[in-house]
Parts: sequence; C-alpha cells; structure tokens
Amino acid sequence: MEESPGGPSQKKVVAVVGGGLVGALNACFFAKRGFDVELFETREDIRQAKIVRGRSINLALSHRGRQALKHVGMEEKIVSQGIPMHARMIHSLNGKQSPIPYGKKGQYILSVDRANLNKELLTAAETYPNTKLNFDRKLQDWSAETGLMTFEQVEADLIVGCDGAFSAIRKQFLRRSRFNYSQTYIPHGYMELTMPPINGEFAMKPNYLHIWPRNTFMMIALPNLDKTFTCTLFMPFEEFEKITTGDEVIEFFQKYFPDAIPLIGVDALKRDYFRLPAQAMVSVKCSPYHIGSKCVLMGDAAHAVVPFYGQGMNAGFEDCIVFDEIMEQFNEDFSAVLPEYTRVRVPDDHAIADLAMYNYIEMRAHVNSKWFLFRKHIDNL
Ligand code: FAD
Repeated sequence: MEESPGGPSQKKVVAVVGGGLVGALNACFFAKRGFDVELFETREDIRQAKIVRGRSINLALSHRGRQALKHVGMEEKIVSQGIPMHARMIHSLNGKQSPIPYGKKGQYILSVDRANLNKELLTAAETYPNTKLNFDRKLQDWSAETGLMTFEQVEADLIVGCDGAFSAIRKQFLRRSRFNYSQTYIPHGYMELTMPPINGEFAMKPNYLHIWPRNTFMMIALPNLDKTFTCTLFMPFEEFEKITTGDEVIEFFQKYFPDAIPLIGVDALKRDYFRLPAQAMVSVKCSPYHIGSKCVLMGDAAHAVVPFYGQGMNAGFEDCIVFDEIMEQFNEDFSAVLPEYTRVRVPDDHAIADLAMYNYIEMRAHVNSKWFLFRKHIDNL
C-alpha cells in the first residue's frame, strides 16, 4: 500500500475505538494521512442492520461539523441529504408561530438523519485501502503502558477513544493521577415522537427548527427527508412519570402543545408516549484528553454535552480537524501532538459544554420572553 505524501515514514497503526459519528469520521482523517487504521465498533455494521439505535433520530449539522466533513470530501454529499433550517419557529400557547433567524440572510443549519450520516461516514472510511472496520468488537480494557487492547488482544501505536459518553477507553484515565473528571446528569429526560406527513407533505413549515418553549420544559421538532418531523419532548423525569395513561397524555398536550395534537395524531400520541421510557442526558467534562503518546479521547468520550446547543457532534467533528492540524504542525510526532491537542482543545470543548448548559435554560425559557424576542429582532436588523 502506498503512503500518502508527507505521511509517516514507517506506517503506524491507529486504533479508533467506536464507529459512531466521530469515530467513523476520524478513521477517514487518519486514513487520509496514510496510517494503518483499525476501527472497532461494539455494534453490528449498521449498514446491514434492520434497526439502528442511536441517541436521536436526526440532528442539527452546523458550520463546525461541515468544515470537518469538507476536509475528507464529504460535505457536499451530506449537505445534499440534509434539510436547511433557516430559523427557529417559536410556537406559542395560542398556536401563533414566530420565526427567529439563526443568523444573517442565507445562513442556516441542517437537519440530518443520524443513521444515514453514520452509514455514509463508515462507507467513506472503508474506501481507504489502509482502513479496516471491525464490527461486533467491544473493547473491554486496555493498557496505557503497552497500548494493548483487550477485545481479544490487539495492539496499536495510537488508540483513539471515540466510544461515546460512557467511554471504556476513558476508564483507564480515571485510574491515573491528575486526571480531572466530572459528570452531571440534568433533571430533564427526552422522548422522541414522530409527526407524520399530511397528504404527502410536511405537516409544518419544513425549513425551521420548531420550538415550543414552556419554561420548565419544551418540545422541539426537526424535519426529515421522508417529510416527517421528529419531535423531541424535554421535560423533568418526574413530570414524565406523572403521566401514566393515554388520556393523561392528551390532557397534557392539550394544556401545553395544543397545536401539535392534530399534527402528531391522538392515537399516535397515546401509543408512542409509552413506547420507550424518557432517556437521560449527561454532561461530561474531563482533562487531559490524552495519556502520553499512546491514547487520545475525542467526541463524546472527551466531552458529552447536553443537546440544547446542537453542537455535540459538531464539536466532535471539529476535534478531528483540530487534531489533524496539530498532526501537520508537529509532523505526526504523537508525543508532541497529544499534549498540544489537550492544550488547545480542552478550553474550547469545555466552553461548548458550558454554552450547551446555558442554552438548556435559554431555549425553554428565555426564548419565550419578550426580551429575548426583542433582542433577536435587534440582532437581525
Ligand atoms: P457516539 O455517537 O455515542 O458513538 C460512540 C460509538 O462507540 C457507538 O457507535 C458505540 O456503539 C461505540 N462504542 C461504545 N463503547 C464501545 C466499546 N467499548 N468498544 C467499541 N465500541 C464502543 N449533536 C449535534 O451536533 N447536533 C444536534 O442536533 C444534536 N442533537 C442531539 C439530540 C439528542 C437527543 C442527543 C442525546 C444528542 C444530540 N447531539 C447533537 C449530540 C450527538 O449525538 C453526540 O455528540 C454524537 O453522537 C457524538 O458522537 P460520538 O461518535 O463521539 O459518540
């Protein structure tokens, strides 16, 4: 196999643990540099799976994430499969809808299908001859001294932990001195509901991120290519638990989201509310992101954030691009690259985590206030 120009003189093995969004993209970055890349994913190959479980059905892709996709030649393809959202659309209790643009005219974020994005990134990684994807391979443990990973035993020069918020790679970090770690579960959970098309068309205006802010809780909806919307209800767990019958679901929606009832449908609401329990949301901050020259954390493994800023995946994608730039700067010398990555990246990722926590309140409460609407109006003049 040929090495990429400027690539390592002796090909090193990079093990990417986790084939989710960040892991699959990261495999492309390392492969492009000419490393021998082995990706290990605990799930089966989602491209063959009948049901794909993920942390949300769709998500918002923004500038950060797009820049990283562009770097591996994937931006156009993914953008063409996304739905632009130019503004938030605020639904008030009386059914009135008011748009608040995200930026200047022509600027937008995109609603993308998580499973499809993950599949496309895995396929892109696989096109590099120096990349091998291994599915049904769950990392049990690894040694920071030798770089030996226990699936069966696999060894690599660099281990890249992209194995999500509950990272098995990160466990080794916790055993080491001077590793800072904190995790916070917020009192809210989330539940996804589907709003079907009406007469083959979107039930609401498609190019918006719809928000029903109700102070202590809220619902949002992002459009999908099949003309459905995925509605996500964010609410304290104890409120979810108070609702125990189909009639109570309707009563609750009647009180807080009356305009959504005919669009989701009474029967669907009564059924889908009880399909799955509400899911928890965790914010993880840690530092450093590396151990010696052996291992580095990226994506949710390094910084799981609450989803209210729509930047978890985007920040994870940006990790890949920042790491790649540092690789260039330090001539792929892992012993210099890894500490520099920690130095540069920790403050930015921690800032994203803080902003996401701030937006947790902003979206459900401030977005509701006259002051907020006035300020947004001024911002957009
Ligand atoms: P993950 O997507 O969690 O992938 C980790 C992978 O590692 C998985 O495939 C898992 O199977 C695998 N794995 C785990 N353990 C092991 C092991 N031991 N061995 C091998 N493999 C393993 N972000 C945005 O940017 N925009 C949004 O709009 C947005 N919306 C969101 C909405 C919700 C409700 C939630 C919960 C999150 C949202 N996010 C959003 C955040 C986004 O989902 C995450 O930031 C993103 O999935 C992180 O990608 P990742 O690859 O780091 O982790």
